[in-house]
Amino acid sequence: MDEANYVQSIVESIVHRMRDQKVKGDVADYIPELAHINPNQFGLSICLANGCQLSFGDSDVPFSIQSISKVFTLAIALGRFGDAIWQRVGREPSSHVYNSGQELEEKNGHPPNPFVNAGAIVTTDALLVSGTPKETLAEILHFARLAVSDNEIYINSAVAKSEIATGHQNWALAHMLRAKGNLCNDCELVLGTYFHHCAIEMTCEQLALFGRCLARIDTKAIHLSETHTQNLLALMMTCGHYQGSGEFAFQVGIPAKSGVGGGILACVPGRASIAVWSPGLNQHGNSLLGTAALRELSRALNWSAFSSSRPK
Ligand code: GLU
Repeated sequence: MDEANYVQSIVESIVHRMRDQKVKGDVADYIPELAHINPNQFGLSICLANGCQLSFGDSDVPFSIQSISKVFTLAIALGRFGDAIWQRVGREPSSHVYNSGQELEEKNGHPPNPFVNAGAIVTTDALLVSGTPKETLAEILHFARLAVSDNEIYINSAVAKSEIATGHQNWALAHMLRAKGNLCNDCELVLGTYFHHCAIEMTCEQLALFGRCLARIDTKAIHLSETHTQNLLALMMTCGHYQGSGEFAFQVGIPAKSGVGGGILACVPGRASIAVWSPGLNQHGNSLLGTAALRELSRALNWSAFSSSRPK
């Protein structure tokens, strides 16, 4: 059996089992526009190194990528500023919740990593140094569209507006960053841009195509250096699931980034990129069934980064 057929048969049964699960987690209702998403949806798409793409379930339904957009903004910031970005944000996992202000207070406005909200707000601020919010959002969208070779990627402005109106914790973080001297632009400009890039909608099929550049199975569409790609994957492994990052590495062992929209982008270097979406979340804000599916898939296919017997 060739690899695509083998993967297809394994993943088909995983998706089947996931769709039958009764407990699906809770949708992120703190963002009003996301509160009425149907939790029964489940999509998964995989791109393999041989060029095959396999898709299952609701893999063609656009969903709010939320924090997965932090991978895009960090990739752009690394390309533009290189290591200088690390003067403004750290590279360590955090034991606090993703929108915590406690650490900012303790570390004098230096966020622990670019994937917690404060770190992503700083990265967004860095990108705004050379452009307006509109230009910066256009650049982020262009980056995603180029990587996927698909212009049908948009921002859901109703989602962004609902976060602008209700995301008080993020406002608090932005003001604290500004007070501590780690935000160059006005909070309104930075958070307006941040909330809008979180509100990008993509399908699992599009997200898996994007992941090919991080897994380095197709590096033609956008330029990301080998070093920056390794940097991004290291951070996805150590910080990609907030306080659940250690458990995700333990259970799944694949560098991955989650978002509260219920999506997860996982990249197996040199082998595959996987996007999974199920809107119900676990206690850390990561997709419950998406995580379960990736755990089963990683074990069945031996795709953990820590496996010594990965098939070639
Ligand atoms: N826009 C969301 C927030 O700032 C992103 C959180 C996430 O996806 O983890 O709260």
